Amino acid sequence: MQLIELRDYIEIELESSRFKDYCPNGLQIEGKPEVERLATAVTASQAVLEAASDWGADALLVHHGYFWRGESAPITGIKKRRIAHLLRHDISLLAYHLPLDAHPVWGNNTQLAKHFGFVEQGRFGEQDVACHGCLLRTQSLGDLVRELEQKLRRPPQVIGDLNTKVVRIAWCSGAAQSYFEQAIALGVDAFLTGEISEQNVHYAEESGVAFIAAGHHATERYGIQALGQHLASRFTLEHRFFDQQNPV
Ligand SMILES: [Zn+2]
Repeated sequence: MQLIELRDYIEIELESSRFKDYCPNGLQIEGKPEVERLATAVTASQAVLEAASDWGADALLVHHGYFWRGESAPITGIKKRRIAHLLRHDISLLAYHLPLDAHPVWGNNTQLAKHFGFVEQGRFGEQDVACHGCLLRTQSLGDLVRELEQKLRRPPQVIGDLNTKVVRIAWCSGAAQSYFEQAIALGVDAFLTGEISEQNVHYAEESGVAFIAAGHHATERYGIQALGQHLASRFTLEHRFFDQQNPV
């Protein structure tokens, strides 16, 4: 299919132009005009670029692309090597950040709910990316944490009493630890995100609301894969997800 057709389809489905974001969403680097092999990954790191070019990808679709607000503009060092690699192999880079967190079907937060049995009852946070709701069946915090560890293949960092029952939960993939106060105000029993900050520990202890840091990378693996699989079946593209382990 045509690259531009692919870009336009994703843009319409993800409504990416309505998001105020920290990076440009959409086609960040233009490669060959035809796409047959679509690679997906959480982050367009050098290791992912090399795996994608070895596989013969025509385009790479990621959650964390380039050109973040506040980063230095010159194309030198790591940034030069990454961009040079894409241009040398004529691979396009498509990146979708907040639109992919928020999407009601392929979004990271909807996909987390699907994998862990969270029932979404509402949204909160910046541009409604975060979700709150309840567990499909009430679990102890300890059981929930064990399930997260098994499926995400990474032990979560947890602040809270493992024996407490979790009924209401709020969640937001990635680095959404600043939403913890809003989650507490919603009256949930636990808040799940990717990363933790020092002050989250005190808020968890003082509110009695559990804080679960299940991994930034780990909580953002599902959205991009779901979108890649959808595109592959919609347009008969070859799709492969490249996972690069990341302890954070
Ligand atoms: Zn992220």
